[in-house]
Amino acid sequence: MSYRISLIPGDGIGPEVTDAARLCIDALGLDISWDIVLAGEPALKQHNSLLPFETLNSIKKNKVALKGPITTPVGSGFRSINVALRQELDLYACVRPARYIEGTNSKYPGTDILIVRENSEDLYAGVEFKNEDQKTNDLIDYINAISEKRVRKPSAISIKPISHFASERIIRFAFELAKKERRHKISCIHKANIMKYTDGLFLQIFDEIAKKYPQIETNNVIVDNLSMQLVLRPQEFDMLVLPNLYGDIMSDLCAGLIGGLGIAPGANIGDTIALFEPVHGAAPKYTGKNKVNPTATILSASLMLKHIGEHKKADILEKAVATVIKKGKNVTYDLKPTRTDPSSVGTKEMAEAIVKEIKKVLKNG
Ligand code: NAD
Repeated sequence: MSYRISLIPGDGIGPEVTDAARLCIDALGLDISWDIVLAGEPALKQHNSLLPFETLNSIKKNKVALKGPITTPVGSGFRSINVALRQELDLYACVRPARYIEGTNSKYPGTDILIVRENSEDLYAGVEFKNEDQKTNDLIDYINAISEKRVRKPSAISIKPISHFASERIIRFAFELAKKERRHKISCIHKANIMKYTDGLFLQIFDEIAKKYPQIETNNVIVDNLSMQLVLRPQEFDMLVLPNLYGDIMSDLCAGLIGGLGIAPGANIGDTIALFEPVHGAAPKYTGKNKVNPTATILSASLMLKHIGEHKKADILEKAVATVIKKGKNVTYDLKPTRTDPSSVGTKEMAEAIVKEIKKVLKNG
């Protein structure tokens, strides 16, 4: 079987980690041709557009993409291209497995939590109004006229839309995924004690859908309580389903449980298209230093292989990664006992060690 897959290197450490992932996938001997397309700053320089038509077109055509992180300026500047990609391609489900790997610096051996994050709305929808803008003041006047609560003027405002449609779609997706992955419990994460209408709706839909899956245990946990419980007893959680913003924050927390962002993979799934990328961002301070851990992107590529039906090759890849991490020799700084360990290797060298393990398995059948 031959595949054509879109590859977005991204910026910051993106090109280094996607190169590493490509090296490993190419070693598996699959017939994959890569359609390399740009997004973010590199695309702006080359195509005068942050998200060029040809990038979207390539992903729409190939239906599968592997992506490195893309920088989003903080506070001002352009809006997130990562969010734009997910919205534009309707990649509504963000799936992020946080699974312990022996040999990492995780303080929680055995952690295995599958995160399902809604990807299309909530405070991430980008519906925002600037401080001291006339439109914002008009909106505040309107809110103050129809609400019992007062909004101070001037204020900046972000809107948190939670729809029945998107909540039902992600919660159903989570239950179906639980069945497929043989997960036994889903926790719905919310703040419905305070956000009664938005998070309240998400929770209400969760409770309704849960009734249709009696074989799966369910509970609901308020997001602040979840943060504390995860740090104390992560083993009590199997799967989490969350609205967009809580999903973003809890993904990093869960990455911390398993030993850091360097090993946390992810997938953005829609009805027909899927885009795979690590949880981590562009880590600008490490750009071009051949320093960061490629595992998160390599494991994202493994999720991608499973998605296209290449389960055996995905298993080989995951086992090769696990072997290299367990041996602990050819690993990046974040996987050594201390972050200044002089024996740590670079991104490329770790990927090459993984390739060696892949080749051993392929040779021995
Ligand atoms: P980040 O995830 O880029 O980095 C935070 C820290 O995590 C790094 O300083 C580093 O210590 C560690 N880290 C990250 N990746 C690592 C790796 N592969 N190996 C070892 N350690 C690693 O988060 P940030 O600094 O908050 O964000 C930087 C930029 O990335 C921002 O512009 C942000 O918007 C963007 N971002 C993009 C995505 C995406 O493309 N999907 C996701 C998150 C953040």
